[in-house]
Amino acid sequence: MDTNPFSPTPPDWAQEATHAVPFCCPTCQASPKEAKEVWLNRQAPVFIEGFSRRKWQEFYRCDCETAWWGWSNERETPEWLVERNARRDAAENN
Ligand SMILES: [Zn+2]
Repeated sequence: MDTNPFSPTPPDWAQEATHAVPFCCPTCQASPKEAKEVWLNRQAPVFIEGFSRRKWQEFYRCDCETAWWGWSNERETPEWLVERNARRDAAENN
């Protein structure tokens, strides 16, 4: 992956992404695990009514060159992100 998923600046490919439902590549149905780049739009989180959680757009660039995005609450959280969130939450509580 070349792109820092937590960069504040969206990569060029993300600007042409289409919203994909269900949470996989709309062209070849590959899972986001197989995407070659990912970018999370955490600058503009959306608060989910009735929940204390936020959701945000996750952009993926598939191996087939399709750029697509989905809401973070529409997929299971990948392990690398769970770990990262846990570390961040721990840091905020200190
Ligand atoms: Zn694809």
